[in-house]
Amino acid sequence: HREGLVVSFGEMLVDFVPTVAGVSLAEASAFVKAPGGAPANVAIAVSRLGGRSAFVGKVGDDDFGRMLSEVLKENGVSIDGVRFDGVARTALAFVTLRSDGEREFLFYRHPSADMLLTPKELHLEVIRRAAVFHFGSISLIAEPSRSAHLTAMEEAKKAGALLSYDPNLRLALWPSQEEAKIQVMSIWDQVDIVKVSDNELAFLTSNASLEDNAVMSLWRPNMKLLVVTLGKDGCKYYTKNFHGAIASIKVKAVDTTGAGDSFVGAMLWGIVKDLSSLQDEGKLREVLRFANAFGAITTTKNGAIPAMPRKAEVLEFLNK
Ligand code: ADP
Repeated sequence: HREGLVVSFGEMLVDFVPTVAGVSLAEASAFVKAPGGAPANVAIAVSRLGGRSAFVGKVGDDDFGRMLSEVLKENGVSIDGVRFDGVARTALAFVTLRSDGEREFLFYRHPSADMLLTPKELHLEVIRRAAVFHFGSISLIAEPSRSAHLTAMEEAKKAGALLSYDPNLRLALWPSQEEAKIQVMSIWDQVDIVKVSDNELAFLTSNASLEDNAVMSLWRPNMKLLVVTLGKDGCKYYTKNFHGAIASIKVKAVDTTGAGDSFVGAMLWGIVKDLSSLQDEGKLREVLRFANAFGAITTTKNGAIPAMPRKAEVLEFLNK
């Protein structure tokens, strides 16, 4: 039964975040554990809003992997598609947002279980139930997880799902910038819904301009929706027939971790509830206005998942 199911695919890991905000990793003396990974965050955002959500991916059969799948389950995300690898370990990341605004990462990956997911291990029965299949994480960098990604996309598409892609480019993790661009653009012609941040837009177009014609160079005939997120300034949207911008709500941001993932989750939840929002500008603007607010509220608290509001809280904010 595919009614309204959003399947998120790929990376799920434990982030270790300094207990003190703004420090570099070298300066940090203590860390707290936080479940994360962009697609896992998206899966939780969808279910936080009351949507049907499933996650497909692989973690290690270790305490971290069990903690992560437990977090998904507690949050109402189906874990039928989660595999546990008996040998490879769960990915871990030490992450900080320095006071100069730069994000620093250090990974435990040898490689980790998520990077070793093979096409054969995919839970195809979950993937084939997707109304929207969302992906985009660093498991696209290398084999075998790259092939697993491509197979999962193909199977979802064949079964009738819309493909949603957030490139989530962390350039430092790729062998080269050129390689990153080639790999990202190689799937550009197959995806229906794409979300990029303003930084990714600048990188992919080799142009810092946010003008519509710069964005339109990323448009492809297969696309149904291209969204550019602009942090506190909200987002811009492009479809075949219309385009525009929506301001975000004003908040006091304390931690922007996961704002983009939260935004995507809320956007997909809105789209999957009423697919005609992809053709109707008024409906799409409502969906994106809600997603802006959901993303904005997430920045007012620490962490990604713990900061995600429920539907009622977002509506209250919007009606203020
Ligand atoms: P990413 O994490 O992908 O870079 P953004 O930082 O652009 O994404 O945030 C995603 C969305 O969250 C934005 O489009 C906006 O709706 C909301 N948002 C993020 N930061 C703020 C902020 N400081 N104030 C209001 N809304 C915000």
